[in-house]
Amino acid sequence: MFNFPPETKTFNMVFRTFFTASMLMLSTGAVAGGKGHAAHQHGVAVVNIVGEGITLTVQLEAPSESIYGFEHEAKKAADIKKRDSAIEKLKTSAEKMFVLEPGLGCKMSGSDIKPFVTEAKENEKPQSKKDEHKEGTHSEVHATFKFECTKPVAGSKLAFAAKKYFKSLSTLKVQVLSGEKQDGTTIKNDKGTVNL
Ligand SMILES: [Zn+2]
Repeated sequence: MFNFPPETKTFNMVFRTFFTASMLMLSTGAVAGGKGHAAHQHGVAVVNIVGEGITLTVQLEAPSESIYGFEHEAKKAADIKKRDSAIEKLKTSAEKMFVLEPGLGCKMSGSDIKPFVTEAKENEKPQSKKDEHKEGTHSEVHATFKFECTKPVAGSKLAFAAKKYFKSLSTLKVQVLSGEKQDGTTIKNDKGTVNL
């Protein structure tokens, strides 16, 4: 039996809270990636880039399927091995996947990789067991890479080689905030650049 009491006051409050939270997500989204949390689509990753002086931060949100080939939580030894080696590959390839102009003298100075992010953890709690199951079927890899350069990155171009290292990653939805400037583009099959 479903039991939703028509408590209008509560509903309004919940709705208003949700709406405010959405607006907040939208406004911070300008920095972090346009529309806040983009829809999860296999083969498509969201890349948020922030350039400040000589530092560049690249935030990658990719479906786990595109990084290590499955989206359930790795529990079997074979799955854990697969996941861990893909995460290691991501870490060691980042400098080559995000191609900064050689003249800038950039080096990766740090990384933070979350190999298993489910939507349920990211967003609000699921409303029912049914939703929980549905959201549990997808997971993402969230990674942040920091680059330190010898020259300011503003005015340069960034190229991509993500598909070269992760064959299924065919589309990158890229958002850039460099100083005051914003740019965005969709990179398909590693073709194209974005302005920093
Ligand atoms: Zn998925």
